[in-house]
Amino acid sequence: MVARRLACRRLDRSPELWPPGRLPHYYMKIIRAEHLGMCFGVKDAIALALETARHEPLTILGELVHNETVLAELKRSGIQFQSEAREVGTGTVMITAHGASERKLGAVRGRGLQVLEGTCPLVRVAHRAVAKLVGDGYHPVIIGKRDHVEVRGMTEDLAEFDVVLSAADVAQLRERPRFGIAAQTTQPIERVRELARLIRERFPQSEVRFIDTVCQPTKQRQHAAVELAQQCSVVVVIGGTRSNNTHELVQTCAQYCSRVHHVQTAADLCADWFRSDDTVGITAGTSTPDDVIAGVEGSLHAIASVGEARLISHAAAT
Ligand code: SF4
Repeated sequence: MVARRLACRRLDRSPELWPPGRLPHYYMKIIRAEHLGMCFGVKDAIALALETARHEPLTILGELVHNETVLAELKRSGIQFQSEAREVGTGTVMITAHGASERKLGAVRGRGLQVLEGTCPLVRVAHRAVAKLVGDGYHPVIIGKRDHVEVRGMTEDLAEFDVVLSAADVAQLRERPRFGIAAQTTQPIERVRELARLIRERFPQSEVRFIDTVCQPTKQRQHAAVELAQQCSVVVVIGGTRSNNTHELVQTCAQYCSRVHHVQTAADLCADWFRSDDTVGITAGTSTPDDVIAGVEGSLHAIASVGEARLISHAAAT
């Protein structure tokens, strides 16, 4: 079960305050997942936004990434954010890495605005897969979150479609002669394969075609998170509270490790989450910047070197 964030004592002092020689010895081990953090799609979109904003006023339609740290940096660069095209006050509008439907792009262009495409190439692959399925006569079923911006971009141009995320959703599907299945790029591939299997099982008379559109960075991070959680007594997952793939990492780790904590930055860490003999794993969502991961890792090393008991007693005294 995922540990809830409780009111807790913060790591709010430098470890240099406690001379190592006067402290008890602790053995807390800290390891990183083999694959973690920001993917190339998000990095490229951020770089494109920052570069463009150096030359002209820019509005991003929606959140470029679901990460508060990154959004704050973009806002400091003068970039504006709006959720609707009609609210945009600049001549250029950027579409996020999550992509957008042709209908949404049409609404932007219809206002005479210039579109800057930040859509990740792997989201485009997913869009093309869905178009191919529809073009070949399959009823499209998207495995993903119905209200997620990426899923809306994949489905808004379709006359008919279903979105499923659970066995209960599959049970609600109406029989069709041909089902064409694709997935939100950030879904865990095991869930996607299982739901595709359930659709085949439920409709043995139907022709079912599945195109795997889960992106490689997501697969790598999910796979690495499983390996990490299996060897750790605690896992810290770093990422925005609205980041879908970060939440998926939390859920995946919680299947193999009973103490999983989701933090946005090092400031969210609590010293009393950790014991001296813990092996602490670190992973992070695809929108988490490297410096935020480094900050969390640094704070964990501080906890390890200072010693949990000393830290807590100090925090209690302040
Ligand atoms: S998570 Fe995957 S699809 Fe989304 S931006 Fe990153 S690489 Fe692209």
